[in-house]
Amino acid sequence: MSSTHEVFNQPPALAGYDVADDPAMLDALRREGAGWAEDGVRELGRLAGSARVQEQGRQANENPPVLRTHDRFGHRIDEVEFHPAWHELMTMAVRHGLQAAPWRDQRAGAHVARAAGFYVWGAAEAGHCCPISMTYAVVPALRHAPDLAERFEPLLAAQDYDFGLRPPDTKRGLLAGMSMTEKQGGSDVRANTTRAIPVKGDGEAGGGSYLLTGHKWFTSAPMGDLFLVLAQAPGGLSCFLLPRVLPDGSRNGMRLQRLKDKLGNRSNASAEVEYEQATGWLVGEEGRGVRTIIEMVNMTRLDCVLGTATGMRAGVTLAAHHAAHRTAFGRRLTDQPLMASVLADLVVESEAATMAAFRLAGATDRASRGDEQEAAFRRLALAATKYWVCKRAPAHAAEALECLGGNGYVEESGMPRLYREAPLASIWEGSGNVAALDALRALTRQQDTAEAFFAELDQAAGADRRLDQAIIRLRKELSDPSEAQARRLAQAMTLTLQGALLLRFGHPAVADAFAASRLADDSGGPVGWGRAYGTLPSGTDCAAIVDRATPRY
Ligand SMILES: Cc1cc2nc3c(=O)[nH]c(=O)nc-3n(C[C@H](O)[C@H](O)[C@H](O)COP(=O)(O)OP(=O)(O)OC[C@H]3O[C@@H](n4cnc5c(N)ncnc54)[C@H](O)[C@@H]3O)c2cc1C
Repeated sequence: MSSTHEVFNQPPALAGYDVADDPAMLDALRREGAGWAEDGVRELGRLAGSARVQEQGRQANENPPVLRTHDRFGHRIDEVEFHPAWHELMTMAVRHGLQAAPWRDQRAGAHVARAAGFYVWGAAEAGHCCPISMTYAVVPALRHAPDLAERFEPLLAAQDYDFGLRPPDTKRGLLAGMSMTEKQGGSDVRANTTRAIPVKGDGEAGGGSYLLTGHKWFTSAPMGDLFLVLAQAPGGLSCFLLPRVLPDGSRNGMRLQRLKDKLGNRSNASAEVEYEQATGWLVGEEGRGVRTIIEMVNMTRLDCVLGTATGMRAGVTLAAHHAAHRTAFGRRLTDQPLMASVLADLVVESEAATMAAFRLAGATDRASRGDEQEAAFRRLALAATKYWVCKRAPAHAAEALECLGGNGYVEESGMPRLYREAPLASIWEGSGNVAALDALRALTRQQDTAEAFFAELDQAAGADRRLDQAIIRLRKELSDPSEAQARRLAQAMTLTLQGALLLRFGHPAVADAFAASRLADDSGGPVGWGRAYGTLPSGTDCAAIVDRATPRY
């Protein structure tokens, strides 16, 4: 047995490395005003790359949550049971303030610092980032009900993970979710049928109490404490804050019917819910529910882009690590010209996603401090980028997986988990078409957003002929803003923005490869038909590019 079972030409396990050792991310962190957070981000990066946390990520996915609808006596309990590894991951994420903490942090750059933490920590495990993200995102929407915000924001921002069914005001820290999608429509939430009846004379928390009855087809992280729920009130579709446990300690009428059996994101629970005379408090005005909850959706869209950039970076890091240690036909894979081209192309895509994500995190930070130009830029750039970056994820994950050959198809490589997760960010918070149409709406209906977007591109004018021509072509394309063109336009806008960022701030070899493959006329340009990864033109400095994603430890 021993004579045949010699293991060689296999890479060492990639554990005990610093996920934050990521030059594109670190440069962006400093550029967007949060250089002060670098030590903390590095600490989190080392934690995310540690063998212990990687093992917790595996355990949380291989032991998915279980719904307990009833106790042994037949009483409804509607609780979700998680593996201890899930709770460990949640504890660390909350302790590092990746949920609502930046909303209580006055330092300029606080949202960028949180974005960097979310980005590196997501490499440990993606599923638990969902409740973290929703808790971060709920705050701007909740501020439409100042009394509720005053009451709950400190607990949402508290860096204590306090799991369990107790009245929200009595807990050390809270988690939030959102409940919009119904069976008959997720994109078209105006078709919601859940009804909200005002409770006469009840001025609870200033917003007024309502009783909600109806169903929701998807509600992720149903073990949270507070949910923003859309329902039809007398004045139209409205947004409500619904606690799972009422202030008097009794259970609210929120029944978990079953958990979804999902493609990926398996550590996290996503439930079908029935609301039966459940108490909800109005947030914002009656009839303005979509406008109110869209504030939450926009924050989670930022995390969709950040999380996708994380997945890309994790995939290409594993691929580059494998290729640096694996030999075929007498040479390391990384030294084989065609593999170097594939890896370099994956790095280019990943760094372009990272730079766009951090530019948007910076815009979020500045917009939250009253910068209107940044708010206008973000309005358009976030919708377009959510469309394009998330749309690139599955192909990126598949190609990174293939770099490991058969090993990549095997669960313990970690690649299948990345691959299963990859399509999700494009589906929720506005599926591909919906995000692209939203970008189109911002472009055509809000003149200031288009101006802010082109002002951003103009800052890179003259840096590279291929970019200049891409900007001219983009302006021409925008003259036909018809619905059928929405994907084409969102793609072109994002590629041009990524090109501008890379040419201003990126590594020269990465920027050149991006311009040559994604912007230049003979590449098909920013509106061209996509190609497989690994088709970079000759003359690309692939070795320098791949080096940026090859872990050293
Ligand atoms: C794992 C997971 C977790 C989720 N968690 C939550 C949650 O916590 N809370 C919640 O409220 N929802 C949640 N969702 C639901 C998610 O937000 C919806 O699935 C999504 O918004 C799409 O809605 P839908 O499924 O009803 O599809 P539909 O709205 O029916 O869309 C189907 C397709 O049609 C396209 N489409 C829609 N309108 C147009 C149009 N005008 N023009 C062209 N194409 C169009 C869409 O892009 C999509 O491709 C979750 C979904 C998943 C998969």
